[in-house]
Amino acid sequence: MIDFINVTKEYSDTSALNNVSFHIENGEFVFIVGHSGAGKTTLTKLLLREEKATEGKIIVDGIDVTALRASKIPRYRRKLGMVFQDFRLFGDKTAYENIACIMRAVGTPGSEIRRRVPALLRTVSMEQKGNHFPKELSGGEQQRIALARAIANNPDIIIADEPTGNIDPEMSLDIMNMLMKINHLLGKTVIVVTHDLDLVEYFGHRVITLDEGKLGSDVNLPSEAEGEGGLFHE
Ligand code: ADP
Repeated sequence: MIDFINVTKEYSDTSALNNVSFHIENGEFVFIVGHSGAGKTTLTKLLLREEKATEGKIIVDGIDVTALRASKIPRYRRKLGMVFQDFRLFGDKTAYENIACIMRAVGTPGSEIRRRVPALLRTVSMEQKGNHFPKELSGGEQQRIALARAIANNPDIIIADEPTGNIDPEMSLDIMNMLMKINHLLGKTVIVVTHDLDLVEYFGHRVITLDEGKLGSDVNLPSEAEGEGGLFHE
């Protein structure tokens, strides 16, 4: 489903990624970790085709992302649902409208939007707060809305870039549980980019480590959470 094949990204004076290869299966949950400067953001930008690899190939769902023509990029990006550290909600729109507007942007009929947005709000346990504006919501609540928005147009892959970076530890567990749920129940491939190793150790799963632009390790960690029956708790 996602293949990085000997991918190198060079900026003028830095090699941000150096000959990185990995394969991610459809429906996998993968953490990508590494210190600051390890190349995590670069990897995300290459996946989104915000940047182009200097060498190597990136194949997503049979599409050669490295060779994608500019006119095809917007359609390709619909495969990916993004979640950011800073939520990136529209401050002048309610939670409901934040989700509805991106569905409208891809031509979803009004009747489907009216049916689907409440269901999405329920998925992230925010059905009571649809008419709240972002500034009336906590960080964790805003991130829940951002999660609902990320899955609204039914992408195959969710990429969460430091999704817990701006929220407190308790809410971080909550957001991670929701990402697990999206993976488990909706079958989405989920990639979480983070430097929060405590969270990674707690949740386990596959962990790809970048180290100064190189693939450091690619391992399967057991989950501490599963042992405690902690997954999917509300
Ligand atoms: P991370 O997200 O893991 O902190 P980045 O992917 O942002 O790492 O950066 C990897 C390396 O590439 C760093 O040394 C960084 O300074 C460099 N880098 C990232 N973006 C650019 C850019 N646009 N121009 C030049 N160097 C960059």
